[in-house]
Amino acid sequence: MSFAIPAPAQTTIPVVGGNPFPVRRIYCVGRNYAAHAREMGHDPDREPPFFFTKPADAIVPTDSVVPYPAATADYHHEIEMVVALSGGGRDIPVEKALELVYGYAVGLDMTRRDIQAQAKKMGRPWDMAKGFDQSAPCAPIVPVAQAGHPAKGPVWLKVNGELRQEGDLSDLIWSVAETISYLSGLVELFPGDLIFTGTPEGVGAVVKGDRLQGHVEGLPDINITIG
Ligand code: MN
Repeated sequence: MSFAIPAPAQTTIPVVGGNPFPVRRIYCVGRNYAAHAREMGHDPDREPPFFFTKPADAIVPTDSVVPYPAATADYHHEIEMVVALSGGGRDIPVEKALELVYGYAVGLDMTRRDIQAQAKKMGRPWDMAKGFDQSAPCAPIVPVAQAGHPAKGPVWLKVNGELRQEGDLSDLIWSVAETISYLSGLVELFPGDLIFTGTPEGVGAVVKGDRLQGHVEGLPDINITIG
């Protein structure tokens, strides 16, 4: 098929021991750890999960220099486990949800916190706070055959070697299966979709030259430098 303009490149993420994973869409869960919900000024009782999105081409590979973004003076890190889907569908029951998972990775939901705060105050969308260029650094994906379905274990982020965020996967308010099930009631899911599962407490600002190292137990770390 020929196109009116050259077709955009397919965004991919490396897979440990396999071919690259083609990214279709990026969904992110908001406030999925109680302590982070509290630090953002919310009651962490199990209100239904809510979602926002990033463009697929916001993905940045590990070991990249990520440019400090435009239009912010409060650029924040959020360390998250990322779920990569090989299956899809609508209204997936919780008991079947993990069958859709191809693998897991460590990602960063980079956020222009000042734009987000303004959007919240004015009742505007979060898109420009969350879905900007290079806002989704992501380490290689580990297939389920090797990673299993991580449900407990440390999640942490260091900036210049200093611990900034620390949590445990067992503290997720909505499990991976529950998140997939709920999201599939809002949109039809497809192979290639990613879900960023939310961040533990300790989010904060980074500046040019900072080195970020993010970790989820059992998965390859994400390492980026702010350029
Ligand atoms: Mn997040």
